[in-house]
Amino acid sequence: MNQYSNLKKMIELAEEAWTAASSNGLTHIRTRYTEGSQLVTGTGHEFINMCSCSYLGLDKHPAIIQGAIDALTEEKVVILPTSRTRIGLSLLDETETDLRRLFQAEAIVTLSCAAASSGMLPLIASGALSQQEKPLMIFDRYAHFSMNHLKSGCGDETDILTCPHNDLAWIETELKKANGRPVFYIADGAYSMGGYTPIEDLKVLQEKYGLYLYFDDSHSISMYGNQGVGFVRSSYDTLHPRTIIVASLGKAFGATGGLVLLGDPKMRRAIEIYGGPLGWSQTANVPALGAIRASVRIHESDELVTLQRKLAGIMNTFDELIPTENALNNLPIRVVDLNDAERAIEASAEIYRRGFYTSAVFFPIVARGRAGLRVMGRADLAHEDIAAFCRAVADFQ
Ligand SMILES: *Cc1c(COP(=O)(O)O)cnc(C)c1O
Repeated sequence: MNQYSNLKKMIELAEEAWTAASSNGLTHIRTRYTEGSQLVTGTGHEFINMCSCSYLGLDKHPAIIQGAIDALTEEKVVILPTSRTRIGLSLLDETETDLRRLFQAEAIVTLSCAAASSGMLPLIASGALSQQEKPLMIFDRYAHFSMNHLKSGCGDETDILTCPHNDLAWIETELKKANGRPVFYIADGAYSMGGYTPIEDLKVLQEKYGLYLYFDDSHSISMYGNQGVGFVRSSYDTLHPRTIIVASLGKAFGATGGLVLLGDPKMRRAIEIYGGPLGWSQTANVPALGAIRASVRIHESDELVTLQRKLAGIMNTFDELIPTENALNNLPIRVVDLNDAERAIEASAEIYRRGFYTSAVFFPIVARGRAGLRVMGRADLAHEDIAAFCRAVADFQ
């Protein structure tokens, strides 16, 4: 038992900190948006959300909301409740055509990014995407939960290894040992706690050994690269036939749903038929598809460049005032180290009273022994607000 994960132990280790976070009023906060991008609770506490994944502020973009409304008005249904393997709305194809144009790669829309990985990783384990030969699957130790938790399902099909974070020498040793057997490396493109995958070095291994790469790039899509194609996609001129990217369209992209990008369009058929929830669950619904199409148009316009620059400006202000490990790394995520969970929770609670919600992070969100505040910048913040937020954070450093 527990070869690949141990949820019971994880719950036991995390429970104390979550209980403390809850009793400090930091969980299950329910709100509405105010006229602007502030939030307000039922008891009238107004605050700025400093842990929104809508890094460009697109969640409030009128054109995206209108896109959702227009799609509903036109189709007059929320869903076509049949497996897409058999029947789907033409709108689904139209949306995927838009995404193919934006990302210059084969594109599949999914219900969410978590659903994409739930379908993709066991399929990869089966060998269906590597000429029917079961691959060795190497997961980066820091790969997102949405991939890590599938190790046990994959491990019933094939061999699974977990490698130290970004350890290229370790991966190359395994590639040599694999001796021609297909190998998949599974990782985040940009990590949700900051930092990147060493993409250029991995591409060298890809050329040398035929390494397959599977990246979740949810934390760089939209805010990184030309037209917001993300960190991994923008590192390739043409997406390599052995590279797969998944991402959430419900974060910086400002819509909802998930995305699979393929360098090899021939993989598509197996994914659509055998990709578990990608076939048996609903795909993104009609308003989601309308929102995605509207967001693609924004990504193709100059407005995206303006929003990316605004975000960079906000992050510069933050980095000047609060030094952190990931300062100036071109991504809007920072972790302010505060050593222990109790102190992180106390800081988060006080900062919330001062009008900013920033999440206290502790094990298992971050490695055991670490704790702090996770800060996420947004293009639609005012410079005065980020400055006031930094003053509040500085009181706890
Ligand atoms: C949030 C997140 C997900 C989940 O995305 P959904 O579309 O909400 O399922 C997956 N991977 C990473 C890295 C994330 O940060």
